[in-house]
Order: sequence, then structure tokens, then C-alpha cells
Amino acid sequence: MDLKLLTIDDARSAVRDGKITAAALAESFYAKIEKDDPQIGSYLALSKERGLAKAAAIDDLAKSGNVLPPLAGVPVGIKDVMVTRGVRTTAGSKILGNYIPPYDCTAVARLESAGAVVLGKMNCDEFAMGSSNENSAWKPVHNPRDLSRVPGGSSGGSAAAVAADLAVATLGSDTGGSIRQPASFCGVVGLKPTYGRVSRYGLIAFASSLDHIGPLTKTVRDAAIVLGTIAGRDPMDSTSAEVPVPDYLAELEKPIRGMKVGVAREYMGEGLDPEVRSAVEDAVRSLAELGCEIVEVSLPHTEYAIPAYYIVATAEASSNLARFDGVRYGYRAENARSLAEMYRRTRDLGFGTEVKRRIMLGTYALSAGYYDAYYLKAQKVRTLLTRDFDDAFKQVDAIVAPTSPTAAFKLGDKTDDPLAMYLADIYTVTANLAGIPGISIPCGQTKEKLPIGMQIFGKHFDEATILRLAHAYEQSA
Ligand code: GLN
Repeated sequence: MDLKLLTIDDARSAVRDGKITAAALAESFYAKIEKDDPQIGSYLALSKERGLAKAAAIDDLAKSGNVLPPLAGVPVGIKDVMVTRGVRTTAGSKILGNYIPPYDCTAVARLESAGAVVLGKMNCDEFAMGSSNENSAWKPVHNPRDLSRVPGGSSGGSAAAVAADLAVATLGSDTGGSIRQPASFCGVVGLKPTYGRVSRYGLIAFASSLDHIGPLTKTVRDAAIVLGTIAGRDPMDSTSAEVPVPDYLAELEKPIRGMKVGVAREYMGEGLDPEVRSAVEDAVRSLAELGCEIVEVSLPHTEYAIPAYYIVATAEASSNLARFDGVRYGYRAENARSLAEMYRRTRDLGFGTEVKRRIMLGTYALSAGYYDAYYLKAQKVRTLLTRDFDDAFKQVDAIVAPTSPTAAFKLGDKTDDPLAMYLADIYTVTANLAGIPGISIPCGQTKEKLPIGMQIFGKHFDEATILRLAHAYEQSA
């Protein structure tokens, strides 16, 4: 079976109509992974036993003539920051190098109950900290569109695998852009839902108030299917919202004529690569041709988003990562002469450079003398950024922006300059600070044939509108 461009509907109907068994489909993905992934590096672990057992169960169900669940036999990959029972989960870090979780992340459990076959765990930046996947403790990921370039990060493995047809869909996590930016670099669809839409139970925490789980897929329709499967209240996560989950597929086909679409002035200014700018401007023109009313809006505090994000995110990370002490999970340094030395050596040898940098930044921002000056100030800026969006959404139904200021850069280009790397997140961190949903979809390519992505932001819990716009644009393109 040709795995290229295989969507969720294609895979499910092939299994339902008996064109291929779910087991054979999974095996053909494993064969392709074995052949192609050595050059790409998108998988950290394969969960063959678990995946093939699930596929066999789906095949039994299909034989018995029962109605198949919505993701029956669909091969998926899971970013390695989501725990999977019995399958090694490292968060891209040496400190969890030997960690086998005793339970499943809710989003993974929901995908499996809907029939999905989990192929394995996707490579990522250590604890999801990064924008290029070069911070993985295990190996970098190469962009399948150009192997000399990064796939974006931190969900680089999740994006690369979908782009290279090594999974039909994957789950990623997005704290400051880590689903949307790699989606744009690899030319796939990436959706960060509203904060609270998808349970974070079983997601290894980076910055709890900014962390989100969401899908990376080949089409907007597939993103709608996965979101509909994983969304909704979970008693295991008290921040998951009691908000009804609409039928996203039904919403997808509604007309977009007459919708008001904002273009944010601050996202189209200095620092934006001219090729990215013109691709996004073309996309905005297409939306106008489809009958949308285009309105210029302003999000005046955007310039403070990066500093605010890197204070809030590092502060929360410094606290969340305190639990990795060599006692409770994973790696423990050997030959320590005291408990304090064991803690110190475990964390020294277990964490990579970027993670240590963030723990230090965050600890500093939270320390008694600096809390008011940094952390409290950043929280106030966060409120202003949220108000910017609230004000803009009084005038428009959705806002279009570039996903990243540039297309994929070369491996090694920014590794010596953390600040340059942080600036790659300029258009994505705002949605995390405000908790609003955002989707990145392909909108063209550079002269060098590198994918360009555009982003559509929506109101809190209004994923339906951005999916609908993204779908209409994708169908017209
Ligand atoms: N690149 C950003 C960071 O390094 C975002 C990461 C993420 O969304 N997980 O923090």
C-alpha cells in the first residue's frame, strides 16, 4: 500500500473495506521507518508489541462486522513527553533514559480507545525546550524536505514523521509554539488547542500554565478528527475544561463567506522574511476571494511577548523539574558519598545544557529579591497580551499571521546563540500566554522549495472556526 499522503480516512476505510489488515498496515509503516528513519531520526522508540496487539484487535473487530471506531487501525506516533504504559518515555532527556511509565497519558488512551495503533515515541527537544530539535539528548531530527535543515522544535520528530509518511498523524506538545513551528518547517498541519481543551494528564510538564497537547497531521480534516478524539474534560486534570466538544467534522464544512479575518500589524513588521511575508499576504488574499472580510487589527503588546514567555516558562520549568532528583524516576548518578552529592551529580549528568540554563534562569526569576521585578512583571504583561487578543476578537472572528519569521534553518545555525533561537518563537508564544487556539497550515514555499506556514488564531474554545477557515483555504489552494 502506498503510504504517501495517506490520511486518517484513507487508512480507516482501507482497513474497514478489507483492502489491508490493520496489522499489515502497521507492518508496512514499520518497514518504511526502518528504511527511511535512519536519515531523519524522528523515532526514539518503537512500540511494536503494543501497536501490533492493537492492530490485531481492530482486525478481529473488522472481521466480526462490527462498526469500527473513528481511528480504527490508523498508525500514529506520540511525542516522547507523553507517558505510555510499558513503553520507554524519556522526554528527550538522559535523566529519564531508563524510565518505563506505569500509566498512560489521557490523550494517548483516548486515541487508542478510538482504534489508533501507536507505532512509537517521537524524538523531541529535551523536556520540550527548543525550536530546532537539536536539544534532544539522543539525536537531532533532520527535516525530510531538506536533510541539512532542522525540522523545527520541540515536536520535531512528530512533524518530520508526518511529513515523511512515517505515521499518519502524531501528537505533539506546544508550550510556546512547539506544534505549530515544526508543522510550518515540515509543511504539515499543526494545531494547538485552547488551554484546558485537552487534558494534560500524563504530559511530562515543562511549564504547566503554557503546556498544551495537540495533533500534527497531513490535512486540516485529520486535525479535526484527532482533536475531536482527545478533547474534553478529564477528571484526572483539574485544569481540563467542562466545555462541550463540538462535532468538528460537521463544523468544517460550514461556509466561511462573511467571516471577519484580522491581520495583525505587529506580526507583519520588521524581522519577517520577505518570502514568508509574501506567502502569507497571498493566503490572506485567497481568504478574501473566498468571501472573508479582511480587517487590520493591532496587538500592541506583542513586542513584550518573548521576554514575558521566557520568564514565565523558565520559572515554571525550574519548579516542575525539581522532581528529577535520582530518587523517584529514571537515572541516578553512581558512587555519590552523600544524598546531596547524589542529587547534584544526577542532575548535573542527567540534564543537558539548555535545560540547566532554563532551571537557572527560572530559579533566579523566582528568587526573593527578583520575584516582583521579573516574575510578577511578566505575569502582568501576560494579562496585557491576553487583553490585546480579547480586544481584537471584538472586531474579528479569527486572526491570520505567519507561524515563524523564516523557513527551516540549517542544523547548527543557531546552536551557539540561544537568544537567536528564542526569537524564532516570536509569533507563536503569544497564543500560549493568552491560552487561545492556533493552527499552522502550509501556505507556500520558498525559492529553495522549503515549506512556509501560516497561522490562524481563534477565540478561547473556538477551534471550530479556525479549523473551518483552514479547511476552506486548504481546499482552495
Ligand atoms: N521554542 C520554545 C521554547 O524553547 C517553545 C517550546 C515548546 O513549545 N515546547 O521554549
